[in-house]
Amino acid sequence: MNQKVSGLLESYREEYVRLLQEWVRIPSVKGEKADGAPFGREVRRMLDRAMADAEKMGFAVRGFDGYACDITLGDAEEKIAVLGHLDVVPVGDGWTYPPFGAEIAEGKMFGRGTSDDKGPSLAALFAMKAIREAGIPLKRSIRMILGCDEESGWEDMAYYTAHTQIPKIGFSPDASFPVINTEKAMLHLRFRAPAAKSGLQVISMATGDRLNVIPGESRALVEGGAELAEKAAEWGKAHNLPVEARVTDKGVEITTIGITGHSAHPEGRRNAIGMMVCLLSALGVEGPVRTLAEAVGMTSDGSGLGCACRDDVSGALTCNMGILHLEDGYWMGTLDMRCPVNADLKALRDSACMHLPGFEVETLEMKVAHHVPAESELVSQLLAAYSEETGEEASAVSTGGGTYAKVLEEGVAFGASFPDDEDVAHQANEFVDLDRMMKAARIYANALLRLAAE
Ligand SMILES: [Zn+2]
Repeated sequence: MNQKVSGLLESYREEYVRLLQEWVRIPSVKGEKADGAPFGREVRRMLDRAMADAEKMGFAVRGFDGYACDITLGDAEEKIAVLGHLDVVPVGDGWTYPPFGAEIAEGKMFGRGTSDDKGPSLAALFAMKAIREAGIPLKRSIRMILGCDEESGWEDMAYYTAHTQIPKIGFSPDASFPVINTEKAMLHLRFRAPAAKSGLQVISMATGDRLNVIPGESRALVEGGAELAEKAAEWGKAHNLPVEARVTDKGVEITTIGITGHSAHPEGRRNAIGMMVCLLSALGVEGPVRTLAEAVGMTSDGSGLGCACRDDVSGALTCNMGILHLEDGYWMGTLDMRCPVNADLKALRDSACMHLPGFEVETLEMKVAHHVPAESELVSQLLAAYSEETGEEASAVSTGGGTYAKVLEEGVAFGASFPDDEDVAHQANEFVDLDRMMKAARIYANALLRLAAE
């Protein structure tokens, strides 16, 4: 890579760490809509902060009414886009570090948003800063777009694309290296059914607030006493699963402990809602809970819904029950399925409906897969940049995660976690390794030079 750019990047380390700490300390979880703050005041505060920092670095910055901003280097008509986001998922359970403390221990920074997606976005911004300060002439300009609603409804990108022309080609530093050129199709369903009047009665349960998070803990209050608590604990022992049951003056409070994670990556995780419906069904809860235990339960491959399938480009379908609430006598919950590129989404939805008799099923999202050919200039240059900086041969891969990449006609996900990194996005004790983030910044600079320099 260009010596000057490389040296500059090295000199930025402290500044990068300090800025990332300040960004992570802003809890930009989606909140209540306010004036000029469509995703809540904290998200708006984060956006303003990022815009101010980018302006200080000398870039041309434009705001889009609290939905997004863009940060541009160069004035060539043709552009390379870099798409990141400033919003974060809610904290969730199980943290040992303060979730918005940005504490550093053993070369790692801990906090919600460190890896998804503030750390990677900021690494790419510092790559742009190095290219700018090195005075490299550009044949394509570089436009970073930072959105504020990636973790929820993507309203930010709808607003952005309605108000300006988005570049055709680019990458999103919001997943992992080397390059993800295939994103699975997405099918999000919401289901609802009246609770059974017969059988054991559940008094209250409300687990999960995002359909794309594997719930790490679920709690239900069930009518009954010591005998029921004993039975629940025995079920846990028999299945070798962590279950707690406590007798209270209102009933038995049951807690199932899962392993939280991102819905698109269920390997090695355990869904606490899945555990809970299996346990409640075994204890004698009837109707919708029993149906859910049979059709979903603790599986994550959609097999009980008749949806299991796979292909060679994209791998197997995954399915996550992220939310399950008992509200006003109705069970309400969600399913998040990530499906192979050529899957028939309508057929999958129909199969899910058929396996959930008695439920009203609503389609929240049905998004086709996204694929950029491995032979394209974009993919081949990104892979070349990755190989040059890491010394490793690499080829493009597929994911179940949805990134901003598919907002671009020809967009791929590119970093910032490395293939052997632990997957920490959306999880407790989310962190980034600071050495690795500096390496990611080098890869971004290398890639941008290949795609944009004269
Ligand atoms: Zn993200």
